[in-house]
Amino acid sequence: MLWLYSIYRTIRRYKRMAAGLCPKCKYDLRGRVIGENEVCPECGSETRLGA
Ligand SMILES: [Zn+2]
Repeated sequence: MLWLYSIYRTIRRYKRMAAGLCPKCKYDLRGRVIGENEVCPECGSETRLGA
């Protein structure tokens, strides 16, 4: 059932991004222009899923 966990994690990540939060550290990204830099200024993780 690893694939199920993977999907679950992806959905959780996506929801956090939709809420404007970094998927890793939950840094509030709403004040930024999403899509310009695409990395969290706090932890450096990607703030978008794939291309
Ligand atoms: Zn972050």
